[in-house]
Amino acid sequence: MKKLLLSLLFLTLLIYSIPAQVSENYRVDDLKNGIWRIQAIKGTLSTAYLIDGSKEALLIDACTGQEGLKEIVSGLIGKKPFKLALTHGHGDHSGGIKYFSDVYLHEADTNLLPKGVKTNRHYISEGYTFDLGNQKLEVISIPGHTPGSVVFFNRKARYMMTGDGIGSSMVWAHISKDPLTVYLASVKKLEAMKNEVDELYVGHNEQEKVKLTPQYITDMRIVTEKVLDGTIETSRYEMGARSGMQATYGSARLIFNPEKLR
Ligand SMILES: [Zn+2]
Repeated sequence: MKKLLLSLLFLTLLIYSIPAQVSENYRVDDLKNGIWRIQAIKGTLSTAYLIDGSKEALLIDACTGQEGLKEIVSGLIGKKPFKLALTHGHGDHSGGIKYFSDVYLHEADTNLLPKGVKTNRHYISEGYTFDLGNQKLEVISIPGHTPGSVVFFNRKARYMMTGDGIGSSMVWAHISKDPLTVYLASVKKLEAMKNEVDELYVGHNEQEKVKLTPQYITDMRIVTEKVLDGTIETSRYEMGARSGMQATYGSARLIFNPEKLR
């Protein structure tokens, strides 16, 4: 009997030691309404989200590849089926696809994915909808940060997962092959939906010094227009090989390439 109790105790300790181990790389915040934020706390501090639907779940982004992501997902939803979808192909959002069999992303970003990973790719574009049962997430295409950047829009619950598409207080619009006018069109498209959105869930939550509101989209549209019109003060943005120019309006900062405005 004593032996049995001891082994039960050991088993309990083992089970409870798993979350501690995985939380070494991630912090999980329960945002309520079936949304978890999975925040990388080591390496690049990118943010993934897990949406728990009645039929299936949707994991949005996969961070840089820090260990433990798959275990966190199964710890939160058990054996419920789920899909992994990416806001864009950059390595700090796609590195973790190596832990999963399948990934959904916009085809235009497929060459940004980590090399040598055998994860099956499924391509999504404007209008594609993930039906999780009680929740639906629509794909909105917003090229500018990357050609294949998308937003996942829950129209009913009034939120968007925006990845890096419009940044997390600051957007890198200077590293894409697209001119800035393409980015402006994307921001305008989102701004037209602004009244249907209460919450923006961004790709680098730790960069938000104040909680971004949908006004951020309008500020971003204005700063982008002003840069294109030449009616705003700009300065140098220093980031080694990823340097560019920058301008700020309200809550939004735009990093752009002056050689690729139109
Ligand atoms: Zn990015």
